[in-house]
Amino acid sequence: MSGESGAAETTPLEERLIDLIKLKGPITVADYMSDALGHPHEGYYMRQSPIGAEGDFTTAPEISQVFGELIGLWLVEAWQAMGAPESFNLVELGPGRGVLMEDILRAARLRPGFAKAAQVWLVETSGRLRLQQQKRLRSTEAKPLWADDYADISPGPSLIVANEFFDCLPIRQFERVSNGWRERLVGLDERSAGLVFTLDETPPPPAFDLPPIAESEIGDIFEIAPAAQEVTQEICQTLADHGGHALVIDYGHMERGCGDTFQAVRDHKYWPPLSSPGRADITAHVDFETLASIAIEAGANVYGPVTQGRFLERLGLPLRVEALCRGLEEAKATEIRTGATRIAAPQAMGEIFKVLCLSSPALPTPAGFET
Ligand code: SAH
Repeated sequence: MSGESGAAETTPLEERLIDLIKLKGPITVADYMSDALGHPHEGYYMRQSPIGAEGDFTTAPEISQVFGELIGLWLVEAWQAMGAPESFNLVELGPGRGVLMEDILRAARLRPGFAKAAQVWLVETSGRLRLQQQKRLRSTEAKPLWADDYADISPGPSLIVANEFFDCLPIRQFERVSNGWRERLVGLDERSAGLVFTLDETPPPPAFDLPPIAESEIGDIFEIAPAAQEVTQEICQTLADHGGHALVIDYGHMERGCGDTFQAVRDHKYWPPLSSPGRADITAHVDFETLASIAIEAGANVYGPVTQGRFLERLGLPLRVEALCRGLEEAKATEIRTGATRIAAPQAMGEIFKVLCLSSPALPTPAGFET
């Protein structure tokens, strides 16, 4: 990345937001997050190379090729259980540098019919990352198509994967005050020179499903992710109409509850989320319980969430690692084993990351979710 981590600087996006707030008043946390990440010129994903050792954060597929390979084999099995349709959408939401899709397609070569049948769709808003995805997938059989939005994909039987995508969808936050809830907003400090959290003066409309007063305490924060809910609904509609599965992998909580999970990371370290918007990655934990209940309401079957460590183990991670290491020189074998430990060990990414599967009801229980 730019190598300019260190101190907070006033970014062009911050100046625009300050002007906007001066004119129109405070904005929601969701509007802030949406601009900080996705503003067409100044958004974080539009400007930087966020992922990998030289970026701000790293992800499971970037750490270990085994992650994508096991998911690739999972997808092949799921496709066969769907009756091996001759054409289907293989969708990835938020594909980053394209590493996961590349590993998926390599592992899936095991069944040549899979790649032939798959129309690869990449849902990506960043032009810069689209270019990287295009370069990386050039050597594969896939002729990917890109969409800005899941809703733009032509409908059909679908296998959908999202790794660390839902955590970047904007959230709204509500704070418990003495007599109810107030939406947390982003406003200006006393000198109108910087961004600070403030509270809406009026209560939110009752349509927001906020926890009862008796079950919360003053100062509690409750989060709602409207965009995550919307895309979950759209996915479940596809699954109901055309069949398939969606695998959602992310960090988050199994049970709905209060907690402030709005956070930023820059150069592999935590960063104040209102500082230097556009220069740090901003995320929030995924509320798996709410997504699961939306999916059930939309008629999908829901499996999990299970922890990432357990899921990968059930898919045969240890065996796969040993097969890969066989005959390799020691240094390379150690690198593969270390990567596999990082993505699956409870104290690393194995516990905090969860895997949720949404499925059309007619299909058998997918691998990794057996009880
Ligand atoms: N799945 C990848 C990258 C995760 S980073 C990996 O595991 O390495 C998040 C990805 O989602 C990036 O590609 C980012 O550009 C994309 N993204 C973020 N918000 C998005 C949105 N609203 N619509 C589409 N893509 C988005």
